[in-house]
Amino acid sequence: MHSTRIVALTVAVALVLALVGFGNAGKTQGDASGAKESTQSSSKRTAEVQEFTPIVAEVPHAPIPFEGSDGRTHLVYELEVTNFTSGKTAIERLEVLDADTGDAVATLNAREVAGRLQPAGLRETVDTLAPSMAANVFLHVSFDKANQVPERLVHQLSVRAEAAPPGQQKITEKTGRTEVDRRDVKVVGPPLRGSNYLAADSCCDATRHTRATLPINGKVWLSQRYAVDYEQLDANNRIWSGKKRENLDNYTIYGKKAIAAADGKVVKVIDGLPEQVPGIFPEGISPEEADGNSVILDLGGGNYALYAHFQPGSIRVEEGDRVERGDVLALVGNSGNSLAPHLHFHVMNGPLSLASNGLPYEVDSFTVTGRSPGTEAFDKAEAEGTRLKITPVKPPEMVTDAMPLDQRVVDFD
Ligand SMILES: [Zn+2]
Repeated sequence: MHSTRIVALTVAVALVLALVGFGNAGKTQGDASGAKESTQSSSKRTAEVQEFTPIVAEVPHAPIPFEGSDGRTHLVYELEVTNFTSGKTAIERLEVLDADTGDAVATLNAREVAGRLQPAGLRETVDTLAPSMAANVFLHVSFDKANQVPERLVHQLSVRAEAAPPGQQKITEKTGRTEVDRRDVKVVGPPLRGSNYLAADSCCDATRHTRATLPINGKVWLSQRYAVDYEQLDANNRIWSGKKRENLDNYTIYGKKAIAAADGKVVKVIDGLPEQVPGIFPEGISPEEADGNSVILDLGGGNYALYAHFQPGSIRVEEGDRVERGDVLALVGNSGNSLAPHLHFHVMNGPLSLASNGLPYEVDSFTVTGRSPGTEAFDKAEAEGTRLKITPVKPPEMVTDAMPLDQRVVDFD
């Protein structure tokens, strides 16, 4: 028994050594010149040479370009990576390449990769992949102009792999080839009326929604990839005022009317769930109840909009109803998995709140009037009811056909 295992191990090690050795003979490793070779020789090499690639990776959902309220074109997507070795592997550099020209459109150093690398099922980041660990690199690449977005992408990783023999542990590999999905991005109206709304945890580098991968029905989904949690600021830039955080009525946004962002059909209504007490994180919420009282609209073309956390009994539509843009759906509340009254809004590719994938969308007209210092300051202001230090945008910026980006203060009327 014991000796059999030793033999098996020896064979496995010999195989790895052979693969690594072969890889070394075939190409320059850890050398930037490798990236400059022509596409032709690179594809020829890929076809002929078999290289040891400690990380295997793929992009499960091709990125879809859309315009942000900063005027830039953004790609937001996940690179699923697996450390397919028995040793630790670190990604020391990640380049997003135009797969046709080989030009780098984004380069992340080790620290930047580590800030975006999350093991499957964890919310924390890691700087090294443990043996056999699966993880996501949550990527965000942006461009000055839409026509600069490549047709397809591939990822060049510079890794350090413990499982390779000493002296051969620095390896450069190309993986995660993907098309860029050129579908039409759904253009909608706003989900609320009025002014001084703050788009919190919105695209593209806030982590709460963008990295909310969930295993549902046997698959990994990211329905909240482009979700926004809207709060509203009062004249003193407070999310709530008064003595007690627990009082729902103290929140500026509480009871505001959520409206249909576009014509559509109501495909799901959940009502009757109680309000949560602001400031106390709800426990024991099932996936089906996470959105609280909620509405899902089919907007056509494979786009579905989810509105979550409404006041109980406030929903004015029923499953099967047709709604027109601007129709009132319900009142903003604090039901479900919610820490404070807010409107959660996102667009996704199916009628299920969790077993769908988030799609980008653009709001046809809104005004950006300011910007909050960031998620940390927002969380503090939400917890304490204190004034958020908004940097005004002067003059206010009229935006058309774009996604309200994270921590922007926007007017919808
Ligand atoms: Zn949310």
